[in-house]
Amino acid sequence: MTNKGEILGVVSDEKILLSKDIFLKPLPRSAFIRVYCSGCGEICGITKEGAEKLARLGNFQIPPNKEDFFLEIGGCDLPVCDSSPKDEVFLKKIEDL
Ligand SMILES: [Zn+2]
Repeated sequence: MTNKGEILGVVSDEKILLSKDIFLKPLPRSAFIRVYCSGCGEICGITKEGAEKLARLGNFQIPPNKEDFFLEIGGCDLPVCDSSPKDEVFLKKIEDL
């Protein structure tokens, strides 16, 4: 788990927060793809089941080369999150950061 204070410390600078390096790191064990919350800046790995659920919400398919992508959500359940969970999911290419 990443330290929340550390994440909050860089939330004000999205460019630093969303550096490619973060997404290019190996995924945690049993994680399928990474999810970034634009509400609080949390980045975490989720399971295949979780990813498919989010993909349905966002109305897209997870591409076979999923290593090149991450999911972005507009809010999550964390107490530190500025936004509550929304049915808003985007598939983003790491290369485009
Ligand atoms: Zn959040």
